[in-house]
Amino acid sequence: MHYPASDLVIDPVLIRQYDTAGPRYTSYPTADRFIEAFGETELRQWLANRKVGGIGLPLSVYVHLPFCDTVCYYCACNKVATRDRTKSAKYIKYLAKELALLSPLLGAERDVCRLHWGGGTPTFLSHEEMGFLMEQLRGAFKLAPGAECSIEIDPRRLPPGTLEFLAGLGFNRVSLGVQDFDPSVQKAVNRLQSEEVTRRATEEARANGFASVNFDLIYGLPNQTLDGFNRTLDRVIDLGPDRIALYSYAHLPKLFPPQRRIAEADLPSPEVKLEILTLAIGRLTRAGYLYIGMDHFARPDDALATAQSQGRLQRDFQGYSTQPESDTLGLGISAIGRVGPTYYQNEKELDHYYAALDAGRLPVARGVELSADDLVRRAVIQALMCHFRVSIESIELAHLLDFRQYFAAELADLRRLAAEGLVEIDGDWIIVTPKGRLLVRVIAMVFDRFLRSRVARASYSKVI
Ligand code: SF4
Repeated sequence: MHYPASDLVIDPVLIRQYDTAGPRYTSYPTADRFIEAFGETELRQWLANRKVGGIGLPLSVYVHLPFCDTVCYYCACNKVATRDRTKSAKYIKYLAKELALLSPLLGAERDVCRLHWGGGTPTFLSHEEMGFLMEQLRGAFKLAPGAECSIEIDPRRLPPGTLEFLAGLGFNRVSLGVQDFDPSVQKAVNRLQSEEVTRRATEEARANGFASVNFDLIYGLPNQTLDGFNRTLDRVIDLGPDRIALYSYAHLPKLFPPQRRIAEADLPSPEVKLEILTLAIGRLTRAGYLYIGMDHFARPDDALATAQSQGRLQRDFQGYSTQPESDTLGLGISAIGRVGPTYYQNEKELDHYYAALDAGRLPVARGVELSADDLVRRAVIQALMCHFRVSIESIELAHLLDFRQYFAAELADLRRLAAEGLVEIDGDWIIVTPKGRLLVRVIAMVFDRFLRSRVARASYSKVI
């Protein structure tokens, strides 16, 4: 059976039944499986192996800019709350040191097809600092023609002219943090941001030729109601971003201290949360957005929708990506990279990051080298997350195994999900049905070796 990728059916009974905690699969194995035995030496070895058969792989670069001058209480990012501007000046000098250590390890193949600045708040940096950082990056890499250069923007921290300046630096995609326009929700999460501020940022991005504008929204925040979020959706649809990420708020105050400022009593009940999600999906799809997967929507003419329809959508640490599978270099604290069949993560604390670089070391804290088993499971999970279908034959050919024998236990579990209508096993295909799509994480979790061997889900967010 073939279902268009954007077909989605919300089945409240199934969603309640399977609303369990699970990973978002921006990598497999997930970052909590990285180990300290993988460090600088291993990364250096794999960087030296980057060229396979003499062909340099395309390269993505992620730069983590962690500073924020206020803290949003829902935040689960790795950030440094400060108003002290000297901190970012010091940090970018260390980013330059990290680049200087990395570039000789890359050989001549330094064409970058994708550059992303995330945070934190990248626009915490002054224009001079941003210019300096881009100069360093351009000195270390060659941005390929048509490279996708994106940046996360906090519209509250956007002095006039900043988007024009960023366009001049080469950025062509922008992601704006919005979350919710309801003032009582904004107050409860310590993020006051008028519609006017968001509108101005959106219009400035368009006026400066940004090819894609993304809005991040969150449902499940304190004081959120169906009516209030409906009004937020009115405004979002009116502003018409090219992409929308609609995240579920995961209340995990033990893991993320700022969330302790959110009173549990103010959170919408699971029923209201599901109603908000249902409302949002209905309104966005009626307004012409296509459901891409997980939390993402895009206009049919956006590159994300095109990549999905052409079967080349990827999932990585920044969510969904239109770029071909590539090595990724992560720069800055807590940044995650992917080189060949490995992942690595940098030190999470500024002090440790600075100390490593002062000692002339790459600031790698942990990582993992994928086994043949990890690689095949990653391929299956990627296909499920990006295309809602897996070709059994393709996996067999690419990984030289008998799928039905290798995944006998997983297929038995899938048959149980098939009996509930989440998935179909149709000849050579595993197909996520329209009503299984919102629960695609649950289906992917069947193929996660680490979750199969022990139940360790307390640190993950619920799937909805
Ligand atoms: S949500 Fe963004 S702006 Fe708010 S504290 Fe977190 S990283 Fe900073």
